[in-house]
Amino acid sequence: MDVDRAAGATPAMAQWFAAKAEYPDALIFFRMGDFYELFFDDAEAASAALDIALTARGTHQGEPIRMCGVPAAQRDVYLARLVRRGFRVAIAEQIEAPAAARARAAKSSGGKALIERAVVRLITPGTITEEALLESGRSSLLVSLAHDARQIGLAWIDVSTASFETALIERNELPALLARLDPAEILSAELDGLGALAGRRAEAEGLPGPDAARRYLARLFGVASLDAFGAFSDLEAQAAAAALRYVERSQGGSLPRIGHPVRQSEAGLLVMDVATRASLDLLRTRDGSEAGSLFGAIRRTVSAAGARHLAQWIAGPLDAIEPLRARQAGWQSLLVVPDGLSAIRTALRGVPDLARALARLSLVAGKSGRLAPRDLAQVRDAMAAAADLRAALPAACGEAAHPLAADAAALDPSADLAHLLRRALVDAPPQRVGEAPSIASGFDGELDAERRLRDDTRQVIAALQTELAMRYGVASLKVRHHHQLGYVLEAPSSAVEALRAFPELVLRQGLAAAARFTQPELSDLDRRIAEAHDRAAAREALILDHLLRQLIAREGALAACAAALARLDALQSAASLAQSGRWNAPSLTTDHDFTIEAGRHPVVEAALPPGARYIANEADLSPDRRLMLLTGPNMAGKSTFLRQNALMIVLAQAGLPVPAASARIGLVDRLFSRVGAADDLAAGRSTFMVEMIETAAILHQAGPRSFVIIDEIGRGTGTRDGLAIAQAVLEALHGQIRCRTIFATHFHDLVQLGAALPRLRPCTMRVKSWRGEVVFLHEVIEGAAERSWGVHVAKLAGVPDGVVRRADMLLRAAERSRPGDQALPLFAGLEPAPPPVVEEASIWRDALSAAVPDQLTPRQALDLIYAWRRKF
Ligand code: ADP
Repeated sequence: MDVDRAAGATPAMAQWFAAKAEYPDALIFFRMGDFYELFFDDAEAASAALDIALTARGTHQGEPIRMCGVPAAQRDVYLARLVRRGFRVAIAEQIEAPAAARARAAKSSGGKALIERAVVRLITPGTITEEALLESGRSSLLVSLAHDARQIGLAWIDVSTASFETALIERNELPALLARLDPAEILSAELDGLGALAGRRAEAEGLPGPDAARRYLARLFGVASLDAFGAFSDLEAQAAAAALRYVERSQGGSLPRIGHPVRQSEAGLLVMDVATRASLDLLRTRDGSEAGSLFGAIRRTVSAAGARHLAQWIAGPLDAIEPLRARQAGWQSLLVVPDGLSAIRTALRGVPDLARALARLSLVAGKSGRLAPRDLAQVRDAMAAAADLRAALPAACGEAAHPLAADAAALDPSADLAHLLRRALVDAPPQRVGEAPSIASGFDGELDAERRLRDDTRQVIAALQTELAMRYGVASLKVRHHHQLGYVLEAPSSAVEALRAFPELVLRQGLAAAARFTQPELSDLDRRIAEAHDRAAAREALILDHLLRQLIAREGALAACAAALARLDALQSAASLAQSGRWNAPSLTTDHDFTIEAGRHPVVEAALPPGARYIANEADLSPDRRLMLLTGPNMAGKSTFLRQNALMIVLAQAGLPVPAASARIGLVDRLFSRVGAADDLAAGRSTFMVEMIETAAILHQAGPRSFVIIDEIGRGTGTRDGLAIAQAVLEALHGQIRCRTIFATHFHDLVQLGAALPRLRPCTMRVKSWRGEVVFLHEVIEGAAERSWGVHVAKLAGVPDGVVRRADMLLRAAERSRPGDQALPLFAGLEPAPPPVVEEASIWRDALSAAVPDQLTPRQALDLIYAWRRKF
């Protein structure tokens, strides 16, 4: 915003312009009393996004000031909606009490009071820590990029759990890595390769130089050199520093505690590119919902942290046999003892989100944010649950517990902290300090005394009255409250003389029947009662701060406990799947095996209508038959079969059980899935172009340990071209790349390749014809499809009878006259067709409606007209 825009603004609006100048790409939530107000374009954008009224108040530079507002009490609800829509929001708070502003104004000119305001927090999709704004089962990453001509350094931070990782990659690897991380926000200069994620980009503010970045990071983590944590490249250091600065800025200048950076290498991970992930719907379907995704179908976790952990396994399957065997052994050990698993599930159910509570508490310890006593209680409850779980493990696993030994050990982070929190906190402390008591009575004598004073004035006074009556020897001595004198002692006139003997008693009023004295202890009580409220609050804050410091001192152990809780939940989720006996641990090898017995597609199976049965299928891509050529009509289940085998690999390499009676899988290094038309029309490419780009990617990147599923190559071009390309690709996969492949096609002629390519196995989907109707059996068998059944599918889809009959006729005529390998142009079979049995007008109508003008080449159109001329 240029400076002139602010000229002539009222003092408050000048504050707004200053905030806007500092955070130009954020909406400014400008605190005015009980509301956050938005102005000008911000107001317009927010009122549309939140569906709230847009009004105007006053004018600025001759224009009405557009504005809208949200009640401060409901701030988080509105923020959550804005952040989910990708907005950034700067919170400009009143940083002094209105009274202070009035006092200042009175002292200086006596003018109108202007309350100081400042931006205290920038909320962006990748820097959220507020519980109310986070999605519990999903991590929210901020990814920062620094690039040169060849490579990209990345750093990604999950502020909500304090994890911090970096990687150095080649530029062309960016889309695949981003697809795996699925960041909430990307901090980067403009860059190719962000693809659909470009909308989540935030402009990076001047990347620090490599040396400055290293110094900044070393200082931040208190080490002499960044090398203490690993050999970070310059680009990684720059990206990491930029990310932390951004987080720092978003938290109003103070950085939450974040774990030190850990270098990641993509080595050891199964590589999947963007198209593959999109086609497999791993964590979410293309419309963004978990239902219908692989994750949705296999998730049996009972805690939010467990769900996030499992999601990471699915998003980043491994290509390393040992850790996978450890995961398998982990969940298998939960199935050894009958009922063991349900004990574990019970112990994990309702465990608070320890990782996120810890991250919020460390923010507070770093002096940003406000302490939520409830977070302390969440740590307490998570530790209690962890202790229960630890106690339950040996019984639940019997002798087989050793794969879980490390997790079990982490479940006991600190017995003394657990004890301290248990004693100190009330059952359910409030979200904000002071809303309700946080510290249990009986924990701190001083706090208890203050509270008694505050809450039990009457008893305190009664007790003092008894004590004073004894001390002064006047049984009828009373403590009374006087509107001017405060608490006084009232004695009958007859006792005045005796009381005069005590110097600390000062006679203040002598009446006919009674006399009133002040007394130092009473005056003190008076003051203390008035102050007790404040003091109780201060004492409680002091204790809470002590608890916080004790907790932060054990942060590392607590974080390990959080990780163990999450991992155990992911493992029990796997065990729960396997418990039914319908999911089994695959046997993993380092050879090129792939044999699946009775495999299923978990999502399609779950979506079948009641009564329908999923037909399980074998798959055998052993080295001597590693290329499966699958033919069969549409709707017979080809894509389902293709995907089910790719998902089998993802699950196996996530360390999870697979939906099959048994499976033997040699670890895959790269998985390619090209199923379902990925029309990239938005990018201005034709279906065919997209198909060829993706085919090229496979041919360049796949190797002997890779696994490829392809559905229909060459569809988007003329039949001859398509057939030729499909054959050439098959030959390359068979002879050069030599990877395991399932290749679905509607080019039945390709089946003949089986004679020339020894490791190619033609398979087909079984179809039964019954009383003229076609029945898809969804069963994969060796052999070639007898016919394509396209005409039947047309009928199923509701194409008018006349057209279907005519098409059937043409097809049979064509089959009789088929000139060898010649693919059929639309009406080539017309000449030898039998005489029409339907009336001419309907033949015309059918023929015309069967011809789709937009799909005809000029040549085909001409052929059509010749054919019609010959016919009629
Ligand atoms: P294609 O790719 O051959 O056109 P799909 O794989 O899309 O066919 O399958 C079509 C429908 O058939 C699916 O939506 C599903 O409802 C059903 N289906 C597929 N495979 C099976 C199976 N093995 N068992 C039961 N139903 C199946």
